[in-house]
Amino acid sequence: MNDKSYILALDQGTTSSRAILFDREGRICGRAQREFPQYFPQPGWVEHDAEEIWRSQISVAAMVLQTADIAASRVAGIGIANQRETTVLWERATGHAIAPAIVWQDRRGAALCDALSAAGWETRIREKTGLTLDPYFSASKLKWLLDHIPGARQRAGRGELAFGTIDTWLVWKLSQGRSHVTDPSNASRTLLYNLQQQTWDEELLELFEIPRELLPEVRSSSEIYGHCDPAWLGCSLPIAGLIGDQQAATFGQACLSPGMIKNTYGTGCFMMMNTGVEAVASTHRMLTTVAWQIAGQTDYALEGSVFMAGATVQWLRDGLGLIDRADDVEALARSVPDNGGVYLVPAFSGLGAPHWEPQARGSLFGLSRGSNKAHIARAALEAIAYQSADVLKAMEQDAGIAVREMRVDGGAAKNDLLLQFQADILGLPVVRPQITETTAQGAAFLAGLALGLWSSKEEVAGQWRSERRFEPGISENRRAELLQGWQRALAQTLAWARSLPPRQPNVS
Ligand code: ADP
Repeated sequence: MNDKSYILALDQGTTSSRAILFDREGRICGRAQREFPQYFPQPGWVEHDAEEIWRSQISVAAMVLQTADIAASRVAGIGIANQRETTVLWERATGHAIAPAIVWQDRRGAALCDALSAAGWETRIREKTGLTLDPYFSASKLKWLLDHIPGARQRAGRGELAFGTIDTWLVWKLSQGRSHVTDPSNASRTLLYNLQQQTWDEELLELFEIPRELLPEVRSSSEIYGHCDPAWLGCSLPIAGLIGDQQAATFGQACLSPGMIKNTYGTGCFMMMNTGVEAVASTHRMLTTVAWQIAGQTDYALEGSVFMAGATVQWLRDGLGLIDRADDVEALARSVPDNGGVYLVPAFSGLGAPHWEPQARGSLFGLSRGSNKAHIARAALEAIAYQSADVLKAMEQDAGIAVREMRVDGGAAKNDLLLQFQADILGLPVVRPQITETTAQGAAFLAGLALGLWSSKEEVAGQWRSERRFEPGISENRRAELLQGWQRALAQTLAWARSLPPRQPNVS
């Protein structure tokens, strides 16, 4: 029997680095986590120190082996899931980053994206990349570094520098500079990757003035890319899975066939629908992205997000002082039988998919003399479900696929009232898995497939287990009545936003 029966999953997130050890049955045998600093040097800018990311990640990797008391020699290999789009530029000779990493939340590329949009590039970029022309993605961040870090452009042209998203950076560090690679799920978040041709796009490289010498090789999401140097964990381990965090969670949730969908309820909601081998173009401004590539087959996904999900509960806690802890929201909301006609539209920072109204602001409707804080708490939880339902319906229309159930994870998915209401309002079962560490699990599955721990995607899917299934439990009439209330509240919120005086054009 092969003694190498563990997979080390590295989950490199926006605020912390985690390492989780999985066994052959997909069970968690240990975990370690470390936060690292966030830097906000000016409004709209968000940076990480790439060296701090690396050090936090390798330290938790060592820590999880130590605390689980499992020798590195018993680990079959490493899988990596990572925060996406965050951009690192480093020196090939030393492996040192030449500037702070620009984080996905950073908006400094806005002026460039506005200029390209004004020049009419939006549609062509969407057709090629599946993405909106937005500073969220890597291209404008990388161009900014090349334009602003002294000597960077000249050095890049001489082949002295390397670019990578966090997956690429970690593999470079783990392998001591022997591997400069990424996978299509990460590449497809750069605005430089052609979804149909599955290569870096020459025209977009030229548009963003990115020298080709900087770019990593795009490999699949599940194969041996290189080895972790023995200096780090005591022995050489193959690195065998790379995938962006949302795609990883989709894989971890075993949403492996077209029409399967997962929703992660964190600060915001991230929803992803598997659309199979077809890259579906959205008419609702969802993103089209690579889900993963395994053994020569590329699967695609539609992605949509809700800005305010768990953050709405934080607002009840910190903004209104209605509750002491996020967990208290469920009991408060349960203390009334229904919303009492109250609807909250939590558009605190505008509305995202499928409405896209940045000027929208939060609004509360339907208050009566009998309304109390429990109704507001209930309306807040229901709003998370309504917004998710709107995204799901838009995806169904885009893909022309009827969804059969929704799999859920994330911090707010422990709220049973929220999930029951989500099932009620969707008219679909909502299913919470036993293992909610779906991001790390996805990375572990991909690495385990490449290393032969599991033989097929079907075997991997067989390891996913439901913890609880929420079945829809209200009548069609009641559902229609509730949805109508939400739609009316939404229409008024949008009308309020659209009646504002027009914004001054951005002249910067
Ligand atoms: P992130 O990864 O975005 O930081 P998490 O997945 O850790 O988010 O989830 C944290 C979010 O979940 C917070 O916004 C918090 O308000 C919300 N949350 C935590 N517990 C509950 C609960 N019982 N009911 C509803 N929301 C909750």
